[in-house]
Amino acid sequence: ALSCSGLRKSFRGGLVLQDLDLEVAEHEVVVLIGASGSGKSTLLRCINLLEEIDDGTILLDGEHITDPRVDPDTVRRKIGMVFQSYNLFPHLTVLQNITLAPERVHRRRRAEVEAEARTWLERVGLGDKAREYPDRLSGGQQQRVAIVRALVNSPRLLLLDEVTSALDPELVGEVLSMIKDLKTEGMTMILATHEMAFARQVADRVCFLDGGRILEQGPPERVFGSPQHPRTRQFLRRII
Ligand code: ATP
Ligand code: MG
Repeated sequence: ALSCSGLRKSFRGGLVLQDLDLEVAEHEVVVLIGASGSGKSTLLRCINLLEEIDDGTILLDGEHITDPRVDPDTVRRKIGMVFQSYNLFPHLTVLQNITLAPERVHRRRRAEVEAEARTWLERVGLGDKAREYPDRLSGGQQQRVAIVRALVNSPRLLLLDEVTSALDPELVGEVLSMIKDLKTEGMTMILATHEMAFARQVADRVCFLDGGRILEQGPPERVFGSPQHPRTRQFLRRII
């Protein structure tokens, strides 16, 4: 589904992604782990064209999305992204939050988008919240709405950046279980997380980032069970 090669990205402070390669197959769930500042969010933001890469290429289903002639809005219709802070618009209802971009940016018909949004809300147990405003929902409910918002264009790929870290511990479970359901349905996902227990359960492959490179990757049993690289061992010792 996705193929990143030779990605390089620097900010004024220095190199954040260094010749990074990442292949993600259709239906695969890839989890990015690594210390704070290792480049996980930057990688996700580059894939969604929120950051411009300095070098390298990103192909989505064979299409060269980092080509400057490609319209970023067209790409973002195919790649959904959800952030740590759910970023819902407070003055819009749940339903309006979900349908805004598909209607305004992607010019889809309102009736069609609303029907899809309602179907998704029902499926994630929020069918009765369509007309509520975000501040009337719990953090876990808001984050599930944000995930529905990313799903309503039927993306080919879903990017999730620390989607549980802003939540109270008792609300984390409902969001994780929604992500597990998406995996069961075959959604292709890349997620960055500090929750190793969750990474172990949901990942087909775990990638350990260090200094903007993937230092080690493999099935979760291998990476967590017998990490090969000293830096991976050091990282896992510190956080588990
Ligand atoms: P965390 O686990 O804390 O979320 P991360 O792995 O997601 O960390 P990034 O947010 O990708 O790390 O940041 C990687 C590096 O890039 C950091 O050193 C950060 O300070 C730097 N960086 C990220 N965004 C910018 C920006 N817009 N301008 C300058 N530097 C940035
Ligand atoms: Mg981050």
